[in-house]
Amino acid sequence: MDLYEYQGKELFRRFGIPVSEGRLATSPEEARAAADELGGQVVVKAQVLTGGRGKAGGVKLADDAADAERKAHDILGLDIRGHVVRRLWIERASEIAKEYYLSLTFDRSEKKPLFMLTTEGGVEIEEVAAAKPDAIARLHVNVLEGFQPYQARRLIYGANIDDPNEQRQVLDVIGKLYRCFVETDAMLCEVNPLIVTPEGEVKALDSKFTVDESALFRHPDIAEMRDVEAADPLEAFAREKGVTYVKLDGSVGILGNGAGLSMSTVDVVVVAGGRPANFCDLGGGGDAEGVVDALEVINRDPDVRSIFFNIFGGITRCDEVARGILEALHRIEIAVPIVVRLDGTNADEGRAILADAAPPNLHVEPTMLDAAKRAVELAA
Ligand code: GDP
Ligand code: MN
Repeated sequence: MDLYEYQGKELFRRFGIPVSEGRLATSPEEARAAADELGGQVVVKAQVLTGGRGKAGGVKLADDAADAERKAHDILGLDIRGHVVRRLWIERASEIAKEYYLSLTFDRSEKKPLFMLTTEGGVEIEEVAAAKPDAIARLHVNVLEGFQPYQARRLIYGANIDDPNEQRQVLDVIGKLYRCFVETDAMLCEVNPLIVTPEGEVKALDSKFTVDESALFRHPDIAEMRDVEAADPLEAFAREKGVTYVKLDGSVGILGNGAGLSMSTVDVVVVAGGRPANFCDLGGGGDAEGVVDALEVINRDPDVRSIFFNIFGGITRCDEVARGILEALHRIEIAVPIVVRLDGTNADEGRAILADAAPPNLHVEPTMLDAAKRAVELAA
């Protein structure tokens, strides 16, 4: 789950990482009041779950409360890469002498958390990685040994931060960021920029924070931060139903059992010349209830022109899935054609059940590729 900047900063603050004081606002009037309370120059920042807000005009300095109200008026409603601005973070403005970059994420190939630090902050890290790869210091943390302060020192020297006053503060932030990352079950904590003020004070000026969905049960306070309005309504509905679903931009609805088979189903639809409308994994069960829920979610997507139902029966039995499909067709109205491929445990029984019932919009195909071609044809 991605957090807004102000939510990430709230977590930073709890772990002792220095951030600026600020207020949330959802209208120009609230922005004015917030700026009034904070006093002096403020920065008005669009809160959207995407980066590059600065370039898109979503981050603006304001000289006083009246100016903050005007800037808030300009930014609210702005569309930043498909995200409409509904919330603003009004923060006491900082003076910036230097912009650094610090992040902590998982390096899946090394199976370790990875720190990245560079003095070339303020721009996107991908740009730095392309133009000046040597400017980025990297450090893997051995989770069994845990994080050790000497490692942070290595990171700081690697990034060529040589001012002792900065070194001390950045060292402190690195240690706190590690605790924050581990204790919130984060998958990404990015501070860009990590600034140094003209007075030499180090501070997190931005936050990009992703928390592991699967760990949210341990963090009810973070789970509550979810903005249900910002979520794709279909994905929200799927979550409600307990269905693993990701919306994509094509027209062939996809349902498979198991993440691997579902991914392959997405691929084979592309191979057959089509575009998948979603990724949806039925999981290992495949009971009627699960099939009904998944089909209900897929069927709600107005872009779906056909549904490819791809089952390989291992633990899941194809006869049970076939009964689930019939049950679903009985309970929900599905106007689009459904192409079914059943293979594995009890596949013959499953196909026989479907052939007996023979619903008019159901097509059974023998192989995955045949089924994909048929589904693509029917969606055209
Ligand atoms: P992003 O564009 O979405 O990454 O948003 P950021 O929060 O990183 O802000 C973008 C840029 O705005 C920063 O890199 C800074 O240069 C500038 N900025 C943000 N906050 C302040 C501030 O308090 N004072 C000043 N002078 N500039 C700021
Ligand atoms: Mn940023």
